[in-house]
Amino acid sequence: MVIDSIAKGIVIDHIRAGYGMKVLEYLNIDTGVNTVALIMNAASKKHGRKDVLKIENITDIDLTALGLVDHSATVNIIENHVISRKIKLRLPDKVTNVIMCRNPRCVTSSESGIPHVFHLVDEASEEYRCEYCDDIVRAGAR
Ligand SMILES: [Zn+2]
Repeated sequence: MVIDSIAKGIVIDHIRAGYGMKVLEYLNIDTGVNTVALIMNAASKKHGRKDVLKIENITDIDLTALGLVDHSATVNIIENHVISRKIKLRLPDKVTNVIMCRNPRCVTSSESGIPHVFHLVDEASEEYRCEYCDDIVRAGAR
């Protein structure tokens, strides 16, 4: 399958197969306005199968949450038909309102309007710690 390359925008490559939809959801891009191509289950030389996401005309997106969904993906920023920037994703050190604390005794459960803030504890196991109650949540297990 060949999809025309884009003149300007973002290409997110090497998304784990089956995760493309989830990545698109996390990016919160209005597909009613923007041109988005999601290629699912493409053959990859690197790891068997992958998803690829192409978003036209947008070059600034918040990649913090994306690092959480799939930090093995690579992000290419395209300008004038060439890659102007390559971004390697990693797990963010701190996330706000992406992971939710489920501890019923946590202040975020008893009071509304408090942001759910988590800090990275361990990159290998993808563990995050709640800022308020120190509960540990595994990012990949959500
Ligand atoms: Zn908590």
